[in-house]
Amino acid sequence: MARIETPRRIRGTQDIFGDEQRRFAHVLSTFERVRALYCFQRVDIPVFESTAVFARSLGETTDVVSKEMYTFEDRGGDSLTLRPEFTAGIARAYLTEGWQQFAPLKITTSGPVFRYERPQKGRFRQFHQIDAEVIGAAEPAADVELLVLADQLLRELGIAEGVTLQLNTLGDAETRDAWRAALVAHFEAHRDALSEDSLTRLEKNPMRILDSKDPRDRPIADSAPDIDAYLTPEARAFFDAVTAGLDAAGVAWERNARLVRGLDYYRHTAFEFVTDRLGAQGTVLAGGRYDGLIGSLGGPETAGVGWAAGVERLAMLLDEPAAAAIDAVVVPMGADAEARAMGIVADLRRAGVAVEMAYKGKIKARMAKADALGARFAIILGDDELAKGVAAVKTLGAGTQAEVAFADLAEALR
Ligand code: ATP
Ligand code: MG
Repeated sequence: MARIETPRRIRGTQDIFGDEQRRFAHVLSTFERVRALYCFQRVDIPVFESTAVFARSLGETTDVVSKEMYTFEDRGGDSLTLRPEFTAGIARAYLTEGWQQFAPLKITTSGPVFRYERPQKGRFRQFHQIDAEVIGAAEPAADVELLVLADQLLRELGIAEGVTLQLNTLGDAETRDAWRAALVAHFEAHRDALSEDSLTRLEKNPMRILDSKDPRDRPIADSAPDIDAYLTPEARAFFDAVTAGLDAAGVAWERNARLVRGLDYYRHTAFEFVTDRLGAQGTVLAGGRYDGLIGSLGGPETAGVGWAAGVERLAMLLDEPAAAAIDAVVVPMGADAEARAMGIVADLRRAGVAVEMAYKGKIKARMAKADALGARFAIILGDDELAKGVAAVKTLGAGTQAEVAFADLAEALR
């Protein structure tokens, strides 16, 4: 008979279980709690979109669009792409669902995103992001609110220590044009030493050379002119308002004049929360202002600002999370007790008691299970107890035992 080969997990995907799952869930529940404090609404958007949604808004020459997208033709012949990030899909929904009426719209979402990248520690092909956006607010107050939200999230996760907020401005359109010309002049003068990728970037989006990780590009990127000399008074005032807001809110930040974002649509504020605790994958949360994005999707010029963070990277920084506590394990002894236990367990769960039933193995194994699960109580049901209509409730830490009538069990366990 032919041997059946077991299918393998796809490279760069994860089966998130146990301890890892607890970390993961803790990041998401903390985000859910903090976003409510900041009065952000939750939205859910599709996992796939028309390819154009990402290609147009992220920019054809970005790494994500040119190399990392999962793009396929569906059975109807349409080109679809698994979302590589949230912002473009949210901007599409803002336009197609008439969300303009809610502007300024403060929203968050979370879920899987997909990028064809080389998998390594903290880098997956299906990973998860949490995401926060403010659409329809051109005021620096929106940038500040999002950054303070990010900071509070990191604090509440207990990982703010050792994570630094790096902040930059990419200016307004006038600033960018002037700075871009200065960058091109600088990079042209060093063309011979640039990597092939950066020669392409030089044609399409020279700013992105500043972001290059190629060691050949680093010295040239590091000696490139800063944006500061080109900032218009308006762009300077915007940046000053953001930093003043952060100072007022007690959020520490550092200027990083080399910080540009990988995507084309950014204006003004650009930021990353970085740590050296994750090796090369040190950016945990990143974002900025994207006033050009909705226009690039054919909508009216609309201001927007937002960020995304990798759930896996945040989870990796967490301290060991505690296993979920359960209240009790029911240990039936014998067939009658097992039948009766079904009803008792169901009643306890309906009364809000977290209870497990040990139905495998000998009594010793069942009691061992109660210990292993870290339950506070073992509820032992034998023939004697059944006859009396009571259960023997053992307090596991103390080793004490008491008889409790079935009807009083839920109360006694609380
Ligand atoms: P990187 O420089 O690490 O590739 P990026 O600039 O491509 O990051 P963004 O597009 O800003 O990342 O996405 C926001 C966040 O999503 C990142 O800061 C990171 O925490 C997380 N992230 C990005 N790519 C991956 C990936 N392949 N696997 C896991 N997390 C990721
Ligand atoms: Mg990337």
